[in-house]
Amino acid sequence: MKNLIAGNWKLNPTNQKEAKEIFDEIKAGIKNATAEVVVCPPFVYLALRSFSEGGFALGAQNLFWEEKGAFTGEISGAMLKDIGAEYVIIGHSERRKYFSETDEIINQKIKKALDAGLKIIFCVGETEEEKTGGKREEVLQRQIQEGLKDVLDIDNINVAYEPVWAIGTGNNCSVEETKESIEFIRKFVKKDTRVLYGGSVKSENSGVYIKEAGSNGLLVGGASLDGKEFIKIIQSAE
Ligand code: PEP
Repeated sequence: MKNLIAGNWKLNPTNQKEAKEIFDEIKAGIKNATAEVVVCPPFVYLALRSFSEGGFALGAQNLFWEEKGAFTGEISGAMLKDIGAEYVIIGHSERRKYFSETDEIINQKIKKALDAGLKIIFCVGETEEEKTGGKREEVLQRQIQEGLKDVLDIDNINVAYEPVWAIGTGNNCSVEETKESIEFIRKFVKKDTRVLYGGSVKSENSGVYIKEAGSNGLLVGGASLDGKEFIKIIQSAE
């Protein structure tokens, strides 16, 4: 099983020129990578195939749960697949927080993404309050069980453990806690399901999550916007 290293660009960068520069840096550095690499830019840059083809897969950061119809502003799994995306991130804490995505909505999106033939990076993780309240396992169990409710085939699902308090804060999760959470998550998925870690990953701390915490890869936010840094992270997973 290959490690999976995914970059989530979030709402960045603000123009095509910068997007192309990041794609170019990744393309230039990715040769000989043994990990599977996925880049998840904003929707508009997914369509720039001449920018983005070369040694890595493309992923979207979201999708809508219907395939087509009167849903202004939405993008479907079928459209993503058609444009060349292989992956989609579902359940990211920023979507749970700012767009009120519930476990039920996430479950609908997962089913539709699978129907469209997309592979999924399914994010789960507790908030700071839930962590200090001793609710980490309860939250992880609920998010996984509700998110995967009635999903019969989880072969195309990768789970990303992303403690909310570690995202974009520089406060990355300790190896011990990550290991514990990853082992807990494994109780609810298949033996060969990849479980990733995400939360303030940089090249200085990335290797330990794979070599010591037992993850099968990383979901990288901020640091994936620097192509050279993202390459170093990919190399640290070898
Ligand atoms: C993310 O957006 O999934 C993420 C982990 O962000 P960051 O690496 O910036 O903490």
